[in-house]
Amino acid sequence: MALTGLQIFKLLPNTNCKKCGCPTCLAFAMKLAAGKESLDKCPDASPEAQAALGAASAPPIRAVTIGHGERAITVGEETVFFRHEKTFVHRPGFFRVLDASTPASAIEDRLTDWSAIRIDRAGEVFRVDGIAVVESPGSPEFAPAAAQAAAAHGLPVAILAATTKGAAAAAEPIKDRRPLIVPPAGADPGPFVALAARLGAALVVSGADLDSLAAAAADAARAGVADILLEPPGDDLATLHKHLTLVRRGALERIHPGLAYPVFLRVGAGEFSKAVVGTSTFASIMAVADSGGETWMPLWTLRQNIYTDPQQPLRMDPGIYAIGEPTGASPLLVTTNFSLTYFTVSTELDGVGVACYLAVVDAEGLSVLTAWSAGKFSGDRVGKALRELKAAEHVSHRTIIIPGYVAVISGELEDALGDGWQVLTGPQEASDIGPFFRDVWETARPK
Ligand code: SF4
Repeated sequence: MALTGLQIFKLLPNTNCKKCGCPTCLAFAMKLAAGKESLDKCPDASPEAQAALGAASAPPIRAVTIGHGERAITVGEETVFFRHEKTFVHRPGFFRVLDASTPASAIEDRLTDWSAIRIDRAGEVFRVDGIAVVESPGSPEFAPAAAQAAAAHGLPVAILAATTKGAAAAAEPIKDRRPLIVPPAGADPGPFVALAARLGAALVVSGADLDSLAAAAADAARAGVADILLEPPGDDLATLHKHLTLVRRGALERIHPGLAYPVFLRVGAGEFSKAVVGTSTFASIMAVADSGGETWMPLWTLRQNIYTDPQQPLRMDPGIYAIGEPTGASPLLVTTNFSLTYFTVSTELDGVGVACYLAVVDAEGLSVLTAWSAGKFSGDRVGKALRELKAAEHVSHRTIIIPGYVAVISGELEDALGDGWQVLTGPQEASDIGPFFRDVWETARPK
């Protein structure tokens, strides 16, 4: 269990020598407890303190990596129950279910399509995290083919086996790609544990209740399986939510070594609510069957909202963004790099249908008014940013439209830009951009 600041303080030399950069050992201990410092900053820490703090600071949930290379996914290593306590470390991975009884040519087409999905949103790339190949009893020849095909696209593979023989046939050829073996519900775990231990593969263990789940994980670990995921029981969403919560709490409080692993869920077609519960309640890898693309954007967006650091605002890269196909005569607007601001403004601009340029300047991810009041969206800073972004090279005129909430910076910005630039105060709300273009820009724009 993590140590408190006072417990850590008792392990430190208590000389207040300041070599760590803190005025006192107590101040350093408090930073260590909050995870904002590392013990190696104290050169005088005793070996006993290093051992105690090292063990206490190891994440209570084991890291498990599925896959190999650039697309490999690591889960686990979480240290908190609520994201506002610190941060969640790894986003859950959504594996797309592939029925191995699908004709081979269709499998290849699907894998090609799925591996090519790439949606940029607010600084994150949404894409399929892995493939969950489902073995169909009666068509065993497709299991290894599907697994190999998935591996060929570089995607991590989970093997949802119906039989031990099928699991071995699918996992053996791709053992170097660190597959995840998922036994069928209620199966005798022994043969699958032996297979995972022999191949060095990750394994999902399950149980009828949390006690048997933890015991099964501990048994698998003793048998030589290092990378384990837990599949908690839960026939209905309320039970599942309770079990997911208890598993996380049990892991964080180190109640049982068998709970110190990330969680796996299988989500059947039409079980979107289950995926939502899993995403919001600590599931780490989900094998999601779906009947269409409408499953994915909501899940990716939900995950993004939960698995971003609340202490780090989502931010866009500064730059000049084209909306539509602007020309040199098109309007040029400026806003901050807070992602929500960018998406609100750019969506309205898109909807209005007026091609334009939107300059996004670095305001440390703050919204317009917040950035202005913090001195990060002043006329001087915006002028400097626009020069660095070479805004003048995108338009033939010298008019910049600023957000209505910061009309106060217009004079300072004109001075900062010089060279004949004029500032036009835009609307306060993005929803008023359409009327602004119609009533103000059409009159004021350079002719
Ligand atoms: S370097 Fe170590 S002994 Fe010195 S003040 Fe920091 S914590 Fe205390």
